[in-house]
Amino acid sequence: MNLKTFDAIIIGGGPAGISAALYMVRANFSVAVFYSDGGDLSRAKKIDNYYGLPGVSGKDLFKTGHAQLAALGGRLISGEAIGLEYDGVFVVKTADGEYSAKATVLATGKPKQTVKIPGAEEFSGRGVSFCATCDGFFYRGLPVGVLGAGEFAKEESDYLLNVASSVTVFTNGAQAATNFDSRCVMSTGKILRLEGEKNLQRVVLEDGIAKISGLFVALGTASAADFAKKLGVLINSENISVDNYMKTNIPGLFAAGDCVGEPYQISAAVGEGAKAGLAAVKFLRSFK
Ligand SMILES: Cc1cc2nc3c(=O)[nH]c(=O)nc-3n(C[C@H](O)[C@H](O)[C@H](O)COP(=O)(O)OP(=O)(O)OC[C@H]3O[C@@H](n4cnc5c(N)ncnc54)[C@H](O)[C@@H]3O)c2cc1C
Repeated sequence: MNLKTFDAIIIGGGPAGISAALYMVRANFSVAVFYSDGGDLSRAKKIDNYYGLPGVSGKDLFKTGHAQLAALGGRLISGEAIGLEYDGVFVVKTADGEYSAKATVLATGKPKQTVKIPGAEEFSGRGVSFCATCDGFFYRGLPVGVLGAGEFAKEESDYLLNVASSVTVFTNGAQAATNFDSRCVMSTGKILRLEGEKNLQRVVLEDGIAKISGLFVALGTASAADFAKKLGVLINSENISVDNYMKTNIPGLFAAGDCVGEPYQISAAVGEGAKAGLAAVKFLRSFK
């Protein structure tokens, strides 16, 4: 697969990601921003507390920010990031290809999808996992499941196919949005609950029971916390831990906006994005 290279990659095209990108592009670095949708910004209908733009709609602010970055030469790529690896450089994986960069900013906003299945919380850490790369090894040779129906779930199932004895994809009533490997068993019924003695042992569905030893949750799009867990980045209650310059514990990896925690406001996301962008510029200059 052809690897495309940028100085920096930003995962998230909301106010945090675009703000970070603006600083980097204006400092003459090549930047690619991945975005899967309009994020929370585009869900805000009328914004009355953002400086200088009373009553602006989130959709308009989103469009203006993207146009501003594009006019400066920033590359906006509509597509979901499904994997992030680090080995001195960062490699971002999408369904269409792989992209590498020396610096990366996580700006994916706040995860929307939570698991509302009875037993999911009870078996968390005792069969229910949120990271195939981190925990897959514990289930080698055992039957596992993946909960999800999109690209992120496919990425997790592809990883687990090389580790587990079998992989069942539980879409929980949703239609699979992507082509899963033919070795995956597809289970599209609604899940009623998870059961087991000490550890998870089975998924009880409306149309039957599936015996599994581990269930990997991969709902919706991969969040900053999902990427962070795989890389060993410190997180605190699903928020990425950063210092005052929005640096994580991995050199060259920054995070900004709702994914680092409260106050979940556009002004904060823009400010944190600016800090992350400036810190990334400093980091990238150290290579010159
Ligand atoms: C209904 C509603 C009303 C609001 N009203 C206000 C208000 O009036 N004032 C205010 O200050 N704040 C308001 N907010 C909060 C505000 O929208 C957020 O704080 C702000 O948008 C956070 O910016 P962000 O860049 O961190 O995340 P977001 O705006 O959520 O952007 C996240 C970006 O990441 C992308 N993304 C996520 N995962 C991936 C992936 N795996 N691959 C590629 N891209 C990915 C998304 O597509 C999106 O582009 C409101 C929020 C909502 C939901």
